[in-house]
Amino acid sequence: MAYSYEASVSQSLFDRASVVTPGGVNSPVRAFRAVGGTPRFMVSGTGPYLTDADGREYVDLVCSWGPMILGHSHPEVIAAVQEAVSRGTSFGTPGEGEVALAEEIVARIEPVEQVRLVSSGTEATMSAIRLARGFTGRAKVVKFAGCYHGHVDALLAAAGSGLATFGLPDTPGVTGATAGDTVVLPYNDLDAVRAAFAAHPGEIACVITEASPGNMGVVPPAEGFNAGLKELCAADGALYISDEVMTGFRTSKAGWYGIDGVRPDLMTFGKVMGGGFPAAAFGGRADVMAHLAPAGPVYQAGTLSGNPVATAAGLAQLRLLDDAAYAKIDAVSAELRSLVGDAFTKEGVAHTVSSASNMFSVFFTDEPVRDYDDAKKQEAFRFTAFFHSMLEQGVYLPPSAFESWFVSTAHDERAIERIAAALPAAARAASEATA
Ligand code: PLP
Repeated sequence: MAYSYEASVSQSLFDRASVVTPGGVNSPVRAFRAVGGTPRFMVSGTGPYLTDADGREYVDLVCSWGPMILGHSHPEVIAAVQEAVSRGTSFGTPGEGEVALAEEIVARIEPVEQVRLVSSGTEATMSAIRLARGFTGRAKVVKFAGCYHGHVDALLAAAGSGLATFGLPDTPGVTGATAGDTVVLPYNDLDAVRAAFAAHPGEIACVITEASPGNMGVVPPAEGFNAGLKELCAADGALYISDEVMTGFRTSKAGWYGIDGVRPDLMTFGKVMGGGFPAAAFGGRADVMAHLAPAGPVYQAGTLSGNPVATAAGLAQLRLLDDAAYAKIDAVSAELRSLVGDAFTKEGVAHTVSSASNMFSVFFTDEPVRDYDDAKKQEAFRFTAFFHSMLEQGVYLPPSAFESWFVSTAHDERAIERIAAALPAAARAASEATA
């Protein structure tokens, strides 16, 4: 096949990795299973570019799945990391950096009165759900099909069609008992949420939703959906948890909250706030957060939580993310969306460029996509051809049709021109693809 990388350094690294690591990767999507071919092993990143182990350069439209919003190796972030690392890498005590990062988050996002730092988005959502259960004394959690909240057992419940499907384990290793307290509902369907509250009055601890989903491709909330969730939660005494791990500090200075203004009880963050290091957080109402140990009885902890190097990176990155930075990212995103849409239109490929602020993805369908079932109806095989043509031409897209594309302040005219130059052949490949 044209896109085989058979004799490459990446392939030999992948072969080595596959011996010592399941599937050769430390996070499944990196293995290219959805698109086939050899995963690229990257050795460095500068601005909007990544360089792989074979010395090939790519314009990066993954940005480490969101964190690298200033591009790779931003000099001020690197300087902050070097300064922090020169003082030591972990103390296991409180430190000023974590206070400063918490203050920055609280200052930016009004509903966050208090925040606890953790090391991954998964930890953030897991802890927020534990806290919601501890605070309310209730067991059930409502989530939406197609929303990903990390690999928390209770949140890996399968999508079920129908009104109020009880979750079944989506993966071996998650017990029916764990998933049994998870109610999975279709996204953007407030009637389904109403029905779930009617079926389980006083039993639902929280509704957790991606503030604007990016894990089934980009599927923004319908007008009034988040506000409706908040209202239904408040009426029943459940907590409304907005997962902003992906949207936080990306879609605006105050994340998706800065766009829709719906005030969550709890919020979760990750990705951008760590500047490329493992830092994440959950926070919200002070009266709820007061239930967290050591202030309250709900236990939560972490050896590396608030790590001084990670907090220095995150703080440096957030401080650079001013109005001008968001204006730049929004403009880059708008330009790319238009270039991508035009390329497919020219080749007669049925498509929808779906966006939420500066996050976007392409669905290979011209039908509206409002939920996971709609997303799954797209002709994903066209993405495979498109992806490999872009990759061969030096543009690195997420290796799945169900992921958001990410841009950064570093995506300049030269990078955009390289993407624009690759699009016609890739769109043609998508149009010629067969299932
Ligand atoms: N929540 C959302 C919305 C995410 O997109 C992700 C990761 O992609 C997570 C939670 C989990 O974060 P992490 O991969 O840092 O555990």
